[in-house]
This record gives sequence, structure tokens and C-alpha cells, in this order.
Amino acid sequence: MTRRVALLGKPLRRRHSVVMHNAAFAAAGIDGEYVLAEIDESDVPGSVVAARHPGFLGLGVTAPYKALVATLVDEVEGDARAIGAVNNVVRTDDGRLIGFNSDAPGFQVGVELAMGRSLAGADVVVVGAGGAARAVVFTALSAGARRVTIANRTVDSADAIADRFRGVGAGVLTSVPLDGEAVVDALRFADLAVNATTVGMVDPGTAFHVELLPAGATVFDLVYVPAETPLLAAARQLGLRAANGSEMLIAQAAVAFERWTGVGGMADVMRAAVAPLLADPTVRA
Ligand code: NAP
Repeated sequence: MTRRVALLGKPLRRRHSVVMHNAAFAAAGIDGEYVLAEIDESDVPGSVVAARHPGFLGLGVTAPYKALVATLVDEVEGDARAIGAVNNVVRTDDGRLIGFNSDAPGFQVGVELAMGRSLAGADVVVVGAGGAARAVVFTALSAGARRVTIANRTVDSADAIADRFRGVGAGVLTSVPLDGEAVVDALRFADLAVNATTVGMVDPGTAFHVELLPAGATVFDLVYVPAETPLLAAARQLGLRAANGSEMLIAQAAVAFERWTGVGGMADVMRAAVAPLLADPTVRA
């Protein structure tokens, strides 16, 4: 029996996850298949019920169903509950469904590779306050960041994330508007600045001024389509360390694959499989 993982979302424009997981199934010698399920909201409960069948290893979940699926599974793991997003579900042998979040560990792997050091003790600025920013802020605090500043165009959303995670880790957590003086001060002392907005993918331009960062800082852009955003180009021009979100994408997929199959170490296989898509300039956000 071919065992499936279905990605629930709408719209589902990208094939990156399909390519990575199916390459990993082949390399691991597992009769498995990762499929896209672009479904309406009214079909989500039925799809979650179907995933209890032994023919399923689990589910992937993407926008706009990350919060809805959390209400339909038997258990949501602590990190996913804290972040407020289930982006994967694993089926246990007795048919229970456990929701988990792989963006958080994926971000940690990707960003520490980019920084060439651990997040512990780092001074971090996170620009953006959507779903991805929640995983980023939670991970930075959990990993021992010394200070985390959340800057967002809509400051209320940044405040809400700060309220949510106050008490996680021992770092100082603040929220500031994206257009004020406070973000300028924060960027001047940052070891790491993360773009967790859609700027560079959807909107042109950059979400913050990389010129403010000190020498030795790292710029990490969660965007991976296009591969080089104006933000990353500007950071590289200044000689800063800079990386896009592709290693986060690969690392979170490898984490999920291991949870579904028990087979770890698939990041290299996934990286090789997805490389042509990541390098293809005709692939649009
Ligand atoms: P989201 O929930 O829609 O949040 C979007 C964020 O972008 C909000 O903070 C929004 O600010 C901000 N924003 C949008 N347009 C802006 C503009 N013109 N100027 C300033 N800020 C603007 O999105 P998300 O799910 O968090 O995703 C954010 C990015 O992360 C996306 O590009 C996504 O592809 C990427 N991502 C990558 C990975 C990976 O594995 N590499 C994983 C997850 C997400 P307001 O609150 O003011 O509207």
C-alpha cells in the first residue's frame, strides 16, 4: 500500500514540498507519496478525518488552514500551540493525529547556518508580525537570544506577539513600529536581522534599512522566491552575511519527513531535488 501525505491549503501554487518529499521517499526506499490537496475550507474537516486511515502517514498544512487544522486533530504539541500554527500532522500507529510545527526547528537550522554561530546570546531584530514571525520569535527566545525586537508596519500585531511570548526564555522582548526611531536603534546593535514580511516576494523593495546594521551582522530573509531579494542584494553589497529562506524550507521539510517515516538525514537529498526549482527564475511567488 502506498502511504500518503497530503498538503492541505488553498491556493497551492508551489511544488517545492512535493519535489523534496517525493525525492526523500524514493531515496529512503519507502512506498510513499506526497500530494497536493487544494481544497475549500468546508472540505478540511473531512480531509483530516480521512488522514486517520492507515493509508496516510500524515498531513502537511499551509495557509489558510494552519489554525483550523489545530482544532481538528487529537493533540497539538506544545511548540505548535505556543506558536499558534500547526503546519504538519503525524498519524500515530493507532490512528491518532498529532499536530506539530516544523517551521521553528527549520528556522533555527537555517539561521544558525547563515550566522555561523548559535542564536544563544544574539541580539535579534525580527521585521514582520505574521505567522512566520511567531515561529521566528519563539525560536529565537527559546534558543537563548539576549534580546528580540519585533518591528512591524502594524504595531498592534507586533505588540500581540510580544505579549504572547513574554516569559519564553530569558531574553528582553520588545515591539516597535517599523517606521520609528526605535527600530533604527535596534538595528544598530543587531547580530541578526530577519525579514519575516512578504516584502521582496509580493511587494518590491526592502522592509528595513540594512545600512543601519553593524559589520558582522547577518541578514536572514525568509523569502526564497525570488532567490535573491533586494534586501539580500543590499546586504551582500555591504559585505554582511546574508541568506534566504531556502535552508529553512529544506530543514523544516526534513524534520517533518522524519516525523512521518522515522527516517532522518534527508536534507541533502531534498536540497538536491529542489535546487532546480529554487534556481528557476520563472517560478513566481
Ligand atoms: P503573513 O502572516 O501574511 O504576514 C505578512 C507580514 O508582512 C506582516 O507582518 C505584514 O505587515 C508584512 N508586510 C506585508 N506587506 C508589507 C509592506 N509593504 N511593508 C511592510 N510590511 C509588510 O505572512 P507569513 O506567513 O508570516 O509569511 C511571511 C514570509 O515568510 C513570506 O514571504 C513567506 O513566504 C515566508 N516564509 C518562509 C518560510 C520558509 O521556510 N523559508 C516559512 C514560512 C514563511 P502588517 O501586519 O502591517 O500587514
